[in-house]
This record gives sequence, structure tokens and C-alpha cells, in this order.
Amino acid sequence: MSNGPRYRFAPSPTGFFHVGGARTALYNWALTLREGGTFVLRIEDTDESRNQPQWTQGIIDALAWLGINNGHPQFEGPYFQSDNAAEQVEAAMRLYAQGKAYFCDLTPDQVQERAKASGRPGYDGFSRERGLGPGPGRVLRFRVPEGETVTHDLVRGVVRFDNATIEDFVLLRGNGSPMFLLANVVDDQIMRITHVVRAEEHLPNTPKQQMLWHALGAVVPTWAHVPVLVNEQRKKLSKRRDKVAVEQYRQEGILADAMVNYLMTLGWAPHGDTEIVSWQRIVDEFRLQDVNHSPAFFDIQKLTAFNGEYIRAMSVADFIAVCQPVLASPSVPWPAAKYDAAKFAAIAELVQTRVQVLADVPSMVDFLFLDQPAIDDASWMKATKEAWARDVLVEMAAVCESCSEWSAVNLKVAFEAITERHELKLGKTQAPVRVAVTGRSVGPPLFESLQVLGRDSTVGRLRAAIARL
Ligand code: GLU
Repeated sequence: MSNGPRYRFAPSPTGFFHVGGARTALYNWALTLREGGTFVLRIEDTDESRNQPQWTQGIIDALAWLGINNGHPQFEGPYFQSDNAAEQVEAAMRLYAQGKAYFCDLTPDQVQERAKASGRPGYDGFSRERGLGPGPGRVLRFRVPEGETVTHDLVRGVVRFDNATIEDFVLLRGNGSPMFLLANVVDDQIMRITHVVRAEEHLPNTPKQQMLWHALGAVVPTWAHVPVLVNEQRKKLSKRRDKVAVEQYRQEGILADAMVNYLMTLGWAPHGDTEIVSWQRIVDEFRLQDVNHSPAFFDIQKLTAFNGEYIRAMSVADFIAVCQPVLASPSVPWPAAKYDAAKFAAIAELVQTRVQVLADVPSMVDFLFLDQPAIDDASWMKATKEAWARDVLVEMAAVCESCSEWSAVNLKVAFEAITERHELKLGKTQAPVRVAVTGRSVGPPLFESLQVLGRDSTVGRLRAAIARL
């Protein structure tokens, strides 16, 4: 076991695993690796009304996809918060025995009435000196000491909290179950956590938790609160409004390496003039002290551009390999039996330079695997609206039928001759041929596409297109 620092990632399994959570996890993972520490995964599953077991698996799978792996010697867990309930209650009762916590029998309504009457929000410490023991319906509250709580945060620096603004918060509910603040601290103590790197939304919890660490006689961990992610309207990313599920990006063909690299650049930048860097460089260079304080814009277009760069940096063989799941997915437009790996391999390099996400690949190559691709009407009308289009198609069909060697080069030379005879530009004359053969106005280079498609299919489609005119 490593003696280095112990980081942790402590998600609540209440929905799809969020890109913000993924970034927090990656920050912890990068630090763990550089500092020779341990990364603990703890599932905070105590909110029974919102937790679902499938979300837990989703988190584990998404972390593994990002390279944070159960099985890595520096990975520990997953642990479950619910497994530690007895220790959490025991810690609370220790605080009670020491006079650092006390029971209170006010109902939430009564607490509110008193706050209204006094004009001061929150709980007023009504039961502090009443000497109540445990009993049904009685909550256990922490006795917040007077003074100030000063937290040292690796991202935000020194943050001071006036204890007078912090009410005596609840540790155990009326039914005896532990509250989040307590459970989270006790778990961190059980797991010997030294560094709490988490989302900024937990900053208000930090003074309370630091008091608990002190009260329980433990060494306070190093805190770091990382800024939130926002959308283009500068609003905090939300599950309801924004596309936040890591799984969704994975399904759309964002590569894990691109996602990791992009997430790490939200609020932080590697040294040098490019943000596209290897994971090893990120591990070497990432420091919490360099993380920006302001919210970071989660820019899907930038993520997509990163992904395009990663796609282009792959070997063709790797590109072919990562495309396999997308090409074999049930949503492809061709019948599975028509897929021809050799044809895809023949055109892959030309596709690789033209896609940003893997989900764009099927529509670039479907013309190879469909008997007759559906013709996009608007593209067809546009490509054939001038009189020369018909002649070009007829002449090209004749060339395709009769040319000696079926190759992209030969086809191009012959087509250039046709284009010149009509005193037109290749950029224009290719359009009707492309739409006739592939169904679309964009795709891989035309003559290579025809070469891979083959003579019979090309001629058949050109003839069918002429007949349609
Ligand atoms: N379970 C908390 C959350 O998902 C995290 C608490 C923490 O990191 O301390 O927001």
C-alpha cells in the first residue's frame, strides 16, 4: 500500500454521470498519479429517495472509460457510504458524550416559527442548554463554537467563515440516520483521506466539516474547491437543460483521450502554446494552485474540435478499430450483412480527415453498403438544376462503362476532360455525380469513393439518376 497522499472521489449515484463530476475525478486522478498516492472511489449512496444502483455502475463504467480504473494499483474502492452507517452514528454519539453535540426535539415547523418570530433565519440554538437525551424524533445538532473558521484551500487560498453565520447543524436525523455532512467526514476519516478536491458547490459545507474534523480529534484534510462548469449563457450546467452525461458523449463517438484532455483544460491549461497534450504531460504539469477561480465554460464545439484533432492523430489502423462499434451499431442505415470491412478499410483514411466525432462516420460511408442510397432531394435539385448536369451524367456514365482501368486517377482524368468540354469547373460538375452515387452533396473525395464503390454500382446509380431527370 502506498504511503503517499490519499485523494478521493465521492459521487452520489443520483443520475447519469456528469461531465463536471468527470473533471473532478480526473483532477484527483492526475494528482494521485503524480504524487504516488491513492485514489479512493466512494459512492455516497445514502440519499435513498434519489439513488439508483444502475447509476453506480454508470459511474464505475464511465470512470473506467476515462482511464480511472479499478484494478490500477493506485485505485481503491469502490466503497459505499451506506456500509459505514454504524461508524457515522458512533462518531456523532462521541460528540454528544463530549458535549460537542446536543439533542433537540423541535420539529422543522417549530424551528421555522421561532426564526420568523425572532427575525433571524435558521436554528437559534434553542436546545443548547436543555440537556435533552436521545429519543424518537430528536435530532442531534452540532454545537458550533464561537469565533471564526479559517480554511486553507489549494484553489481559493485562505477562506474565512464567521461562525456566527453558521447554525448548529444537524448530525443525526430524528430517526437516528446520519446526515450528509457527518457521513462524508466520518467516511473521509475512515478512509484516511488527506486531500478533498471537490466541486465549489461544497464550499459552504467546508467550515462545518472542518469543525467536525477538529471536534473528532482528527487532522483536517487539505481542501480544494474547483469552479463549476457553465454553459454558453454562463449558467451552471444542469442535467435538465444541458447535455451533461459522459455516456452520451461516448456514444456519439467522442474519444476517451479527447474527453480527458478537454475536461482537464476547463479552468486549467498545460504549459506551452497548445492545449492538446498527452495524459502524461497533464499528470506532470497539473497543479491545483494553477486552477482558475472563475467558472469554466463547457464548450461542446471545442470538445468536438479536440476530438477531431485526436481522430486525425491516430494511425489509420487505430481509426479503423475505433470505428468498429459505430459501424456495427444497430442504428447504421445498411443491413449488417452488407457491411464490407475491406471497403471501409479502403476509404478509412479519407474519412478520418473529415470527421469530428465517430458518429459522423456512418453517413460518410453508407453509400458503400446500401444497394441504392436514398437521394437527398434538396441536394439533387440543386446539383441538377442546370442543363449541363444531364450531359455530364450521361458522359460520365459512358466513361465509367468503358474505361480500361477502374481507378480514381483514371476516373478523374476522364472527368476533367468532360468538365473542360463543357467549360465548367470541377467543383461544380462533381456535384450531380456525387449526389447520384452517394445520395449526398458532401462526403469523402469523389473519385476515390467511386473506385471503392466499384464499376457496376457506379454505372447503375448514374443510369438510375439519368432516368430520374
Ligand atoms: N457526494 C457529493 C456530491 O456528489 C460529494 C461530496 C464531496 O466530494 O465531499 O456532490
